[in-house]
Amino acid sequence: MSCSICGAGNHDARNCPNTSRCSVCGGIGHNAQTCPEARRCSICNGRDHDARNCPVKNKR
Ligand SMILES: [Zn+2]
Ligand SMILES: [Zn+2]
Ligand SMILES: [Zn+2]
Repeated sequence: MSCSICGAGNHDARNCPNTSRCSVCGGIGHNAQTCPEARRCSICNGRDHDARNCPVKNKR
């Protein structure tokens, strides 16, 4: 059997060491804090700020 999470063949999903899937991009092998996409604003896709600091969101 191969792991449905990371695709490795030496364990299954319940025993996967990579269960922490990135909540930002859904990728494996990193988490949201180290995600290369994390710096990108999910609201306007700007790269110089994150969603919490998005000027689009703050604009009413
Ligand atoms: Zn795995
Ligand atoms: Zn990610
Ligand atoms: Zn933004």
